[in-house]
Amino acid sequence: AKQQGRNNYQFYSPEMNTTAREQLELETDLRKALTKDELLLYYQPQVDINTGEIIGLEALLRWQHPQIGVIPPNQFIPLAEETGLICPIGEWVIRTACEQHQAWYAAGLPLMRIAVNLSARQFQQRDLVKTIVQILQETQTQPCYLELEITESIAMQDVEFTVAVLQELRQMGIQIAMDDFGTGYSSLNSIKHFPPHTLKIDQSFVRDLLIDPSDAAIARAVIALGQGLHLKVLAEGVETVEQLEFLRTLGCQSAQGYLFSKPLPPVAITQLLREKTIP
Ligand code: C2E
Ligand code: CA
Ligand code: CA
Ligand code: CA
Repeated sequence: AKQQGRNNYQFYSPEMNTTAREQLELETDLRKALTKDELLLYYQPQVDINTGEIIGLEALLRWQHPQIGVIPPNQFIPLAEETGLICPIGEWVIRTACEQHQAWYAAGLPLMRIAVNLSARQFQQRDLVKTIVQILQETQTQPCYLELEITESIAMQDVEFTVAVLQELRQMGIQIAMDDFGTGYSSLNSIKHFPPHTLKIDQSFVRDLLIDPSDAAIARAVIALGQGLHLKVLAEGVETVEQLEFLRTLGCQSAQGYLFSKPLPPVAITQLLREKTIP
C-alpha cells in the first residue's frame, strides 16, 4: 500500500476492485495486527431516553495501522470474516472489553454493561461458550455485564446449534441484543428462533425518521413489537434532538448516537463516566 495520507485507506474498501495481491497484503497485515497490538476498542454510550443515564457501552473495533492510520471496521471486518481471522479477533474483543470493564470498576466507576459485536462466523466455533466462560472467569466479570450483539445473519447457519449456544449464553445471564434489526431478510423469523433481550432499531430507519413516513412506521412497529414481546428497544444512530423526541413519544426506552456521544477511546469514557450522566 502507498502511504499518501488519509484517503489512502480507501485502498482497503471491500467495495473496491482490489487486486488479489492487495487483498493478500491486507490479510497479512491484519494477521499481524493482532500480535502487534494494533487493534483497539472505542466505546459508545447507550443512554436511557427518559433519565439521560448511561446504561451501557458498545465496544467498537478500530485498527491503528502503522502506515495508514486508524482504519474503521467496515474496511477490514469483511476480510476478517472471509479468512476466519474474525474468530481470534472476536475473542480479543471480548477479552479486552471485559478487562476494560474491570479496570473501570477498579477505578471506582459505576458498573456498566458492555456490548460486544459478534460475527455470525463466531457461532461456527464449537468452543465459543467455553471461550466466553473462560474470559469471564479470567477477568472476573459477571455475565450480566456482558451483552452480545448478534445479527439476523446467524439464521443462515446451523440453526439448531446456534439456538443451543444462545440458550446456554442466556442461561449464564449474558444479555443478547439483535443488532441492525429490520435490515435482514427474515427479521421476524430470526427473533422467533433467536429471542434476544433487546432489539436495536437500525440507524437506516432512524436517519430519516422525521421526513420519511415509512421509516417512522417501521420504527413504530419495532417499538410495538418490543412491547408485545417484552423486549427492550434501543434506537441507534440518533443524531438530533428531534429524532430523540420522536422516539420518546413512540415509547422507545433507549438510544445511542452522535447526539449523545461518538465512540470514544477508554480515557474519554472514564471522563464521561465520572460525570455519570449526559445532560
Ligand atoms: P454497528 O454494530 O451497527 O455499529 C454502529 C456503527 O454506527 C458504528 O460504526 C458507530 O460508530 C456508528 N454510529 C454510532 N452512532 C452514530 C450516529 O449517530 N450516526 C452515524 N452515522 N453513525 C453512528 P463503526 O464503529 O464504524 O462500526 C461499523 C460496524 O462494524 C458495526 O456496525 C459492526 O457491524 C462492525 N463492528 C465494529 N466492531 C466490531 C467487532 O468488534 N466485531 C465485529 N464482528 N464487528 C464489529
Ligand atoms: Ca452493534
Ligand atoms: Ca447496529
Ligand atoms: Ca449497522
